[in-house]
Amino acid sequence: AQHLRPVAAAQAEYPMSHAKIQSPADTQNFLDNKFVPSKATQWIDLHDPATNELVTRVPQSTDEELTAAVDSAERAFKTWKETSLLARQQIMFKYTALIRENWDRLAASITLEQGKTFADAKGDVLRGLQVAETACGITTQMTGEVLQVAKDMETRSYREPLGVVAAICPFNFPAMIPLWCIPIATVTGNTLVIKPSERDPGACMILAELAEKAGFPEGVINIVHGAHKTVDFIIDEPRIKAISFVGSNQAGEYIFSRGSANGKRVQANLGAKNHAAVLPDCNKNHALNAITGAAFGAAGQRCMALSTLVMVGETKDWVPEIAERAKAIRMDGGFEEGAELGPVISPKSKQRIEELIASAEEEGATILLDGRGQKPEKYPNGNWVGPTIIANVKPHMKCYKEEIFGPVLVCLNVDTIDEAIDLINANEYGNGTAIFTKSGSTASRFQHEIEAGQVGINVPIPVPLPMFSFTGNKKSIAGGGANTFYGKPGLYFYTQQKTVTSLWKSEDAVATKASVNMPT
Ligand code: NAD
Repeated sequence: AQHLRPVAAAQAEYPMSHAKIQSPADTQNFLDNKFVPSKATQWIDLHDPATNELVTRVPQSTDEELTAAVDSAERAFKTWKETSLLARQQIMFKYTALIRENWDRLAASITLEQGKTFADAKGDVLRGLQVAETACGITTQMTGEVLQVAKDMETRSYREPLGVVAAICPFNFPAMIPLWCIPIATVTGNTLVIKPSERDPGACMILAELAEKAGFPEGVINIVHGAHKTVDFIIDEPRIKAISFVGSNQAGEYIFSRGSANGKRVQANLGAKNHAAVLPDCNKNHALNAITGAAFGAAGQRCMALSTLVMVGETKDWVPEIAERAKAIRMDGGFEEGAELGPVISPKSKQRIEELIASAEEEGATILLDGRGQKPEKYPNGNWVGPTIIANVKPHMKCYKEEIFGPVLVCLNVDTIDEAIDLINANEYGNGTAIFTKSGSTASRFQHEIEAGQVGINVPIPVPLPMFSFTGNKKSIAGGGANTFYGKPGLYFYTQQKTVTSLWKSEDAVATKASVNMPT
């Protein structure tokens, strides 16, 4: 479609191609509104997932650089928190306009570093942009409460920023997830240190450039890089008051427990295994299309990817029809016209996905569609896994128990809706789930009895827009889900309450003896 083509300026700056980059530039830190070359001695090579050619080297930012980022954010906080809400709102208006103008450029960076198709990368940017656009309403979102609690006495509440906060981001949404944090953290008056994923920081770097252009003062947004060492620095640095994390359970559970033990607020969205129950009375064509798109879009590397089907009754016979639709998906380099399925992030990830497919075979499941060994002709060296469907899966199998995070759909069969609900509720993850049915009463029962925190009724990926919150639960979020991202809870996460109780008596006190008891 025409609107998906890059604007000329973006093309000049960021070629829409997987061609080998002749002299790849190193990724820099972003400190005090400037791009600063790192003095790192350790570097992480970042390859185009479609070709495995080098795109950039990402530094393991040095201790001095990490400290400098927090120094900068700490300095900036003193004045930023006093900036009027209207001034912050004006900057946010400009920021959203600039993100929209640079939409194609951001998406191109995502396709090059992360691998998803250009059309899908545009969605990655848009979902983040919508959080920023919603944050422009901060002038009405930050109001507190006031109540006259007794004669002449009133209590009022305010929401105040925390100080320096940090974000640690995953590889799968290089624009959206930084944008779950940047707008809300800053518009509420905090200053932010971001560590993008070391596997694709490019979009976050563009977001930093645009933040400077939008008028964010020096130090309000700083970017550092690296892997575990940077994460450990963030968790242990006492001046960082809160951490936003999105990523795997392995990293997130560690960050949540150590960050919390260090007295920080932590919000941590983790892994998933999202199920859909398919009922015989559903709109079959809609269901099969929706399932195919949600299972294989973004090569299954979405935390809300629909990775698990629970086929109720006769619908188990529909799985070959899903395979037909999946076969029609075009796997190609993300910049190619008509590409629908890009590569997975790394050779290691491809290997892990293929091992999980092999384990299913060994455990007796049916590989109905096998994506192993497929590759587009033009890109023989990429990390390709074609759409794969595993049927007759049982809950004890490894391919069911683990998050696959690839273009692999696993299908289980049950006889009744009761069994479907029990099976889904027995799963330890609770990010999202869906039901396909035309029956209002079945859907109503499902939405009430199902435990997963985000429920779609004939909607395969029920991620709420930013006026709501991202409400995964169980093992898909650390800390029992007390701190969810964006929406009102996101605003509360980045602010602390202050209450002020005042007494203004209209007449002078007459008692001459002080009371030491609590008033009753
Ligand atoms: P990841 O956990 O490997 O990496 C996330 C971040 O943590 C990165 O910045 C990385 O540098 C850091 N990190 C990685 N391992 C670490 C460790 N052992 N100790 C300290 N830090 C570490 O996750 P990923 O592979 O980038 O992202 C995919 C995962 O993210 C999937 O599990 C997916 O379900 C999850 N995810 C969840 C949501 C959600 O909202 N629930 C959204 C997107 C992705």
